[in-house]
Amino acid sequence: MYYTSTRDSKIRIESAKAIATGISKEGGLFVPCEYPHISQEKLLKLSNEDYRTRATEVLKLFLTDFTEEKVNEMVCSAYGKKFDSSNPAPLHKLDNGTYVLELWHGPTCAFKDMALQILPYLLSASAQKVSPGKQTVILVATSGDTGKAALEGFKDVENTRILVFYPQDGVSNIQKLQMITSQGANVGVCAVCGNFDDAQTGVKKIFTNPEIIKKLQENNMEFSSANSINWGRLVPQVVYYVSAYCDLIKNGAIKCGEEINVTVPTGNFGDILAAFYAKKIGVPIKRFICASNENNVLTDFIRTGTYDKNREFHTTMSPSMDILVSSNLERLLFELSGCDDKYISEIMDELKTNGKYTVSKDILDSLKNEFSAYYCGDSDTQKSIKETFDSFGYLIDTHTSVAVNCENQYIKETEDKTVNVIVSTASPYKFSDSVLSSLKKIDAKDDFGVIDELSDFSKTEIPYPFAELRNAKPRFSDVCMPDEMPEYVLKKLGI
Ligand SMILES: *Cc1c(COP(=O)(O)O)cnc(C)c1O
Repeated sequence: MYYTSTRDSKIRIESAKAIATGISKEGGLFVPCEYPHISQEKLLKLSNEDYRTRATEVLKLFLTDFTEEKVNEMVCSAYGKKFDSSNPAPLHKLDNGTYVLELWHGPTCAFKDMALQILPYLLSASAQKVSPGKQTVILVATSGDTGKAALEGFKDVENTRILVFYPQDGVSNIQKLQMITSQGANVGVCAVCGNFDDAQTGVKKIFTNPEIIKKLQENNMEFSSANSINWGRLVPQVVYYVSAYCDLIKNGAIKCGEEINVTVPTGNFGDILAAFYAKKIGVPIKRFICASNENNVLTDFIRTGTYDKNREFHTTMSPSMDILVSSNLERLLFELSGCDDKYISEIMDELKTNGKYTVSKDILDSLKNEFSAYYCGDSDTQKSIKETFDSFGYLIDTHTSVAVNCENQYIKETEDKTVNVIVSTASPYKFSDSVLSSLKKIDAKDDFGVIDELSDFSKTEIPYPFAELRNAKPRFSDVCMPDEMPEYVLKKLGI
């Protein structure tokens, strides 16, 4: 099976090349040329299998240039003991017809672990195919969460090195503690004197610095990126939709073949796009409900066909969805336009120059055929956390709460009775402050106090990554100026 680019559909490459390259040279994103299929018999059969078997079955369809043994080996390394439940993506029943897909049982308690736990193996194996013997070097500038998720994913993965830069005063205490206590022989963490932009600009400059690239080459190393547009981050996300469908069959919520809806708290559009791909390969999904916070670019787009990022940016209590440009949307539009690479290049140019574009009526119609969109603000987010806790005794984080709120809006408007899967993207403990203050006035004085108070009040257990953090010993104390970053990278790589 082959991959092409959303902006040049003459390109034909295999999955290893797509993953090792990350982004196509003309700026397009890699997408499958055609879609594999999972039959209903197969879904039925998989409903009696565990997550790893399901993952291997799905991933091998997309990664045809790898052997099934290799795919299984990567799956088992990724979805093993670092998850705190035997099923890395369990389904929680809220009421008849509403299920929550918990994607936060990994080492950083958020759904990015689902992809970032396996991506390092995919990248490393892809690099070995494309340029054998080379070590893959990952540089990350982080405003908090992605850095830790990447550190956890890459630690001690063969043939990889990872260096993470974070703004010295731009991350929370807990986020900082998570990063500087990271384990692994191949990892490094450094604070940058400056803000997130300084760190990010610094990393981008290093990536394109010819001298550094040459130095790496001479030492059999190569830069790669773990960012969210890499196909290797998207494809593992298709698995949990297949798995959720199998679990619904298994627990009798649906019959095999019956349609479901999914509601996805959305930022960069990766998670909801993976649901769309799951449908493409045969999971019966009727409607994709796109949930946004106050940064409601996508809500407007799905309703009107105009994508317009020229608007105020809001800082909300669901920060991972505070995004004005959703990169992965390009992949959906490529599909809906009938793989029209010229058209996609045009509208993406418009986005770059004018900050907006409007899609054709045909595309808008097909978009509306399958997608619905809603948004809610912070006070409704807090209200839905409280309502969900009071009605069901179930604690949700702020991102999940946006989805719950949007799902309720959808049902109120449509009276749709289809079984719905709400995607839960973070543990409530990851946003303890916002979650607890939705339920009661906070008494605790510091971060860990709030975590304890949330646990006491909700009678839920503190996830192991936070429980362990309290006693973890800091390991990294490096600090550098933005212009010292290149030197730091070379020193750390020992070249
Ligand atoms: C990244 C993230 C999202 C948004 O997912 P996208 O794939 O970017 O749409 C939602 N919730 C949480 C907690 C996240 O970390």
